[in-house]
Amino acid sequence: MQQGQPMIILGEDSQRTQGKDAQTMNITAGKAVAEAVRTTLGPKGMDKMLVDSGGSVVVTNDGVTILKEMDIDHPAANMIVEVSETQEDEVGDGTTTAVVIAGELLEEAEELIDQDIHPTTLAQGYRRAAEKAKEILEDNSIDVSADDRETLVKIASTAMTGKGAESAKGQLADLLVDAVLAVRDDDGNVDTDNVSIEKVVGGSINNSELIEGVIVDKERVSDSMPYAVEDANIALIDGELEVKETEIDAEVNVTDPDQLQQFLDQEEKQLQEMVDQLVDVGADVVFVGSGIDDMAQHYLAQEGILAVRRAKDSDLSSLARSTGGTVVGAVDDITEDDLGFAGSVAQKDIGGDERIFVEDVAEAKSVTLVLRGGTEHVVDEVERAVEDSLGVVRTTLEDGQVLPGGGAPEAELALGLRDYADSVGGREQLAVEAFAEALDIIPRTLAENAGLDPIDSLVDLRAQHDGGDLSAGLDAYTGDIIDMEDEGVVEPLRVKTQAIESATEAAVMILRIDDVIAAGDLKGGGSDDDGDDAPGGPGGGMGGGMGGGMGGMGGMGGAM
Ligand code: ADP
Ligand code: MG
Repeated sequence: MQQGQPMIILGEDSQRTQGKDAQTMNITAGKAVAEAVRTTLGPKGMDKMLVDSGGSVVVTNDGVTILKEMDIDHPAANMIVEVSETQEDEVGDGTTTAVVIAGELLEEAEELIDQDIHPTTLAQGYRRAAEKAKEILEDNSIDVSADDRETLVKIASTAMTGKGAESAKGQLADLLVDAVLAVRDDDGNVDTDNVSIEKVVGGSINNSELIEGVIVDKERVSDSMPYAVEDANIALIDGELEVKETEIDAEVNVTDPDQLQQFLDQEEKQLQEMVDQLVDVGADVVFVGSGIDDMAQHYLAQEGILAVRRAKDSDLSSLARSTGGTVVGAVDDITEDDLGFAGSVAQKDIGGDERIFVEDVAEAKSVTLVLRGGTEHVVDEVERAVEDSLGVVRTTLEDGQVLPGGGAPEAELALGLRDYADSVGGREQLAVEAFAEALDIIPRTLAENAGLDPIDSLVDLRAQHDGGDLSAGLDAYTGDIIDMEDEGVVEPLRVKTQAIESATEAAVMILRIDDVIAAGDLKGGGSDDDGDDAPGGPGGGMGGGMGGGMGGMGGMGGAM
């Protein structure tokens, strides 16, 4: 064995970044993600236009949507993107907040690392601060009962502020709370899957409405069928009303015309039997997942049955839930017990489009929110806003606790954490202070995005909180510091606790990394088109892919 010879353990193409370089690289990437969505925060936040490689366009203000559409490639950046995804899954709102906090935690950490605070100490301090933050928020939260409809509407409406739905948020918030309360089960739980959203392009947002039941975006299969059926027994079949082609390739030699006729008669007989089966069990309406043979359509129409073909799986399952029916795999299997019930099934025109409305349903635990808007982009963005709202109303019903918005909780936290830091002592104290500092980013950004002076706003806000006003927040419209609870700007407690938890976890994870080893041959597997920004070159990826891409995005947001 030769001494002093370096041993090479990595493949030729792999790249390794270590120590300070690795940290700087990851922190920069994480911060870039936060910077990309920062301008969208709050009631006066700007929107972004995202154009994919196929040219399709999304215009949105929604943090998680922006980050998902952005096709981010850097591994550390992706950890921050995941923060917004967790927030979306757990609460439905606060995705921008979570990412912006994560970015600022990294920013603050960078300064401490420069002062030679060890990342492990930092991580420890951040974790303690996050725990304390949750305690403070819980202590400050306001209880909301499930019957407090008025507060629920305020919560729904706060989540829609500054989004495409802004102009009609009062009305939409009302519809939405009705929808959530309608699907709430006896134990008070809400499955938001039971609130379907049906988008209709045409008309204005104000024409949106709530239907108790399900709307299926299909028409009846034949014009000879009835337009509407009352007191309908409904069959749900995840199969077809067709005679299956034989699976084995068989050649049948027909020697005389009678035989051919027999063959066709046989097929017709089978179709007739299928329809007879439906008539026997008492079905008045049939939703079929696959096709319906012309002949079967004819028989069904003769029996006065309204049939729909190619119903989506999701339609079949929501019909089953709401009508109390069971989806069967084939007509042969159906029994009377499998039928669902609705007081009315009718084909109606909505925005110039015919759809099947299934209303007055047996279970009534399923509703459809019909969202309307002038263009597809508008309706899509209204849908995203409404989904955030659905999330916060559900969360509030589950937890029963809310906080005032407009930067009030962050200001209160900054205060409480600075106090707490003194009791921590040592170098961790610096990390706790940095954590408190980082939370100021929320009120500061709300002010910046509203065109206000962030320093003045922060000073005013702090003064109020110092004076013991827990719900003092920044009115983004006037720049005044007002009581957010009185103003009706309220959000579920979990929006903040979850944002802080995920942001801290992601920041800590990134800070603890001091060595990035990227296998060279990962390049081929990535979505990158030039070798430069492959995962194989984290450094190159940063400068090229991330930096450039984000810069472009930020510029676009600002220009709009
Ligand atoms: P997120 O994706 O984090 O929900 P938003 O763009 O929805 O981002 O902004 C949420 C922030 O805006 C919260 O801090 C919330 O308290 C604040 N906010 C909402 N309505 C108002 C208002 N009327 N005045 C001031 N701040 C508001
Ligand atoms: Mg929001």
